[in-house]
Amino acid sequence: MGIIEKMRLDGKKIFVTGGARGIGKSVATAFAEAGADIAIVDLDIEEATKTAQELEKNNGIKSIAIKTDVTNPADVDAMIETILKAFGRLDVAFCNAGICMNVPAEEMTYEQWKKVIDINLTGVFLTAQAAGKVMLKQGGGSIINTASMSGHIVNVPQPQCSYNASKAGVIQLTKSLAVEWATRNVRVNCISPGYIGTELTLNSPNLQPLIEQWNEMAPLHRMGRPEELQSICVYLAGDTSSFTTGSDFIIDGAFTCI
Ligand code: NDP
Repeated sequence: MGIIEKMRLDGKKIFVTGGARGIGKSVATAFAEAGADIAIVDLDIEEATKTAQELEKNNGIKSIAIKTDVTNPADVDAMIETILKAFGRLDVAFCNAGICMNVPAEEMTYEQWKKVIDINLTGVFLTAQAAGKVMLKQGGGSIINTASMSGHIVNVPQPQCSYNASKAGVIQLTKSLAVEWATRNVRVNCISPGYIGTELTLNSPNLQPLIEQWNEMAPLHRMGRPEELQSICVYLAGDTSSFTTGSDFIIDGAFTCI
């Protein structure tokens, strides 16, 4: 079997949080194209249902939509139950849901701080932990978390200290889980994208005027596209990455090199 065949994900059962749109939808599409069955997990059940239907229609795989708030442990438990009922097992988790708030540190309220940390860091912990419990019992699995280049650098000019801190937390959480579960065949890695054109960036009125500035700073002078994160995630989800755990993949067109 050639390397491309070995990288296919036929029959694997995967959940993607924040899967209704943006990076989550794009990576879920790649997983489906590679043959996996997908649970689209999102707050926005209407959009998640549309995405799941699109994946089934275009790829002949099974896809379900599950309304879940990743910050709520009871919701996360119910999500795992639904997946196990529908698919019987869980091979891969893409813990990707996240938000950003651009507020100067001195003006940030406790509630604003907590919301970003709850979704971006606690949400990744709760979903990775729930996935890990199933995978440890099953004898293996692969968890991919979405961090950000903001876990490595401080973005300018927009202030976003809670986001940056949450993403640095995701990178260290990823490494911690990878080490704890290494001998039990559960691999944990993360991706750290640079600026990617999604609703999070393109549709935020605050960020619109900044896009030109970011592009000027960026070595490639452009934002990334969600599709440019697909192949790394397919690699991490599949069996050819069996020696890859505890790694953080910076996909940022060299933004963090400057
Ligand atoms: P989008 O805003 O396009 O999509 C995020 C999705 O997550 C939305 O569907 C949203 O649902 C969902 N979501 C938000 N909160 C929750 C929650 N509590 N429970 C379940 N789902 C939730 O974002 P992106 O696709 O751009 O971002 C995806 C990830 O990538 C995030 O973690 C982000 O931080 C990270 N990232 C993004 C970059 C970029 O430039 N776009 C760069 C680096 C990292 P709803 O619509 O209902 O809010």
